[in-house]
Amino acid sequence: MKIQAINGFKDILPDSIGQWQYIEQTARDVFERFGMQEIRMPILEKTELFVRSIGAATDVVEKEMYTFGDKGITMRPEATASIMRAFIEHGLHVQQPVHRLYTIGPMFRHERPQKGRLRQFHQLDAEVIGAVEPRVDAELIAMGHMLLDELGLQVRLELNSLGCPVCRPPFKAQLIAFLEQKNEGLCDDCKRRTHTNPLRVLDCKKPACRVLVQEAPSLLDSLCPECDLHFGEVREALENLGIPFQINRFMVRGLDYYTRTTFEFLTTDLGAQAAVGAGGRYDGLIEQLGGPAISGIGFAMGLERIALLMEQQDANKLPASTMDVFLVALGGNTLAPCSQLAHALRKQGAKVAIDYSSRSLKAQLKQASRVNARYALIVGEDEWARGEGILRNMKTQEQQSFALTGSSDEQGLRLIEALNIAIQ
Ligand code: ATP
Ligand code: MG
Repeated sequence: MKIQAINGFKDILPDSIGQWQYIEQTARDVFERFGMQEIRMPILEKTELFVRSIGAATDVVEKEMYTFGDKGITMRPEATASIMRAFIEHGLHVQQPVHRLYTIGPMFRHERPQKGRLRQFHQLDAEVIGAVEPRVDAELIAMGHMLLDELGLQVRLELNSLGCPVCRPPFKAQLIAFLEQKNEGLCDDCKRRTHTNPLRVLDCKKPACRVLVQEAPSLLDSLCPECDLHFGEVREALENLGIPFQINRFMVRGLDYYTRTTFEFLTTDLGAQAAVGAGGRYDGLIEQLGGPAISGIGFAMGLERIALLMEQQDANKLPASTMDVFLVALGGNTLAPCSQLAHALRKQGAKVAIDYSSRSLKAQLKQASRVNARYALIVGEDEWARGEGILRNMKTQEQQSFALTGSSDEQGLRLIEALNIAIQ
């Protein structure tokens, strides 16, 4: 019996690793241009962390968490809560007023697996902690936009404000009254949500609920003056940076901690999975977790969805990975000097493939093409006896003899010079 990976858990095979590394590298590069520093947290956290931050009545906490050990420990379903926990635990706010942190890693949610929706998936997560200014919101959104743009992706940016503890409760009451009136037409989930999490009804995907909420009151009409001003300034700052966006007054976000600005990067190219990334401001979260009363804003993007979208939209092509040289050792007494030469070349920074099986020249050259070697150095017993090998340009198939005299280090240096291999 073959053992297979668990449903919803996926291997990332060597064929696609180039793309993953490219996405991660582009993210690090863009994030660091914005002064972001990397942080890495454990994958396991106390369950209470997520209950207290994400919220007990959310889909993530109610249905999607991998919790074990008498419910005390949970595999992180997202990164923000963990970053805040680490931030508070290590008193980072004492060192400097504003922190810009990012992390890249796996998250776990027990959802129904489908294209672009896994149980172990990966997020790029960025947070700015300790800044309240609307320009910070705009800058963070612009950073997400820049990343997707540099990956060659076309997405739509939607924006909303979820208000604050001053204006949200009265709006909630107004919304509940509206939903109670329309109760008959709501789906079963939303009937329940009317009292547990009424805002969530606004972004229910069921067609009947969507029609119904068109007439629902809008939080944007009930924002308190401070939230209204903040939202106006975020929009203005985004316009100022030339970032196109649309207002979506039905956007709620699935996590309870959001306040004021929320946003999503969306696509229609991934079927049912519309969001490539999403985020928002969480002004009360840090205090709620026992930290100082400072605010934050962040976003998370799904790596799997970015990778799928790059294929779908035929975005930036990655250069295929190549080897600088493939050493073709033909015959018993060529193996030792070839392995020494390979070692010397690798020390000197070249990417070298070598086959120790003494297979035929034809088989080894085939393998050299398969690994995209730029050159092959063919060393047969006769050549080696004469102190030389045959250097073959794999693209043009031109061949010339190459002197294999002196130490392996000297041979390596001469070969690198001949091949003009750039060494970092
Ligand atoms: P969705 O509405 O698709 O369930 P979400 O609102 O639950 O997304 P967030 O918690 O905001 O997602 O996470 C941010 C991003 O992480 C999403 O935009 C998506 O790209 C990615 N993501 C979330 N859940 C999954 C998953 N199960 N599989 C793959 N990617 C995911
Ligand atoms: Mg979800």
